[in-house]
Amino acid sequence: MIAGNWKMYRGPDPRALREALGDLPHVVAPPFTRLSDCVAAGLTTYAQNVHWESEGAFTGEVSSPMLQELGVTGAIVGHSERRQYFGETDLGVARRAHAALQAGLGVIACVGETGEQRESGDTETVLRVQVESIGDLCGTHENLVIAYEPVWAIGTGKTATPEMAQEAHAFIKSLLDVPVLYGGSAKPENAHELLSQPAVDGALVGGASLDIESFVAICRIHS
Ligand code: PEP
Repeated sequence: MIAGNWKMYRGPDPRALREALGDLPHVVAPPFTRLSDCVAAGLTTYAQNVHWESEGAFTGEVSSPMLQELGVTGAIVGHSERRQYFGETDLGVARRAHAALQAGLGVIACVGETGEQRESGDTETVLRVQVESIGDLCGTHENLVIAYEPVWAIGTGKTATPEMAQEAHAFIKSLLDVPVLYGGSAKPENAHELLSQPAVDGALVGGASLDIESFVAICRIHS
């Protein structure tokens, strides 16, 4: 799977992107306001987050049934920006993932260490806690995918080396046997090397997914 996280950017024209992608498998995760346009254009569309309840007094949140009503087929959960800026916890992330899977959505659950944690030798400990909390609630659900996104590589232009990615992905798979995507400054120039690692099953692409040519190029490399 190659998934594009548009974050809080309007993103490319969905119809132009759909046309450029042709038959290439893809997922796009636009902001909430663009979900319908992406679905209408025929793109495989995920939300960037989802709540664990189906409805209730949770201002600012959106539930799985609400997404499904729009034709959205999955959601990202636990992106490091959600954890870092909005206080999302391992348990909350696991609950979001579990509810979405139960509702029939696909889930991309993000995990990853900060630069400081890597430097202090804590990468595996951090990954273990994050992955096990998702695994404890969700198990190896067939619609669950983990995205390994080292926080120090997101939007920084710094990419994990293919060896670092392989090592982290293999470790994650030893904890929870599901597909693992790599995320962190992935672009057409480095996608081939990263995607050719045996434990790298695809990519979650931020910045480069906003550019039609770059996103399509990465999808093509993976296909
Ligand atoms: C992301 O936001 O999930 C991401 C990986 O961003 P970028 O590709 O810009 O580093």
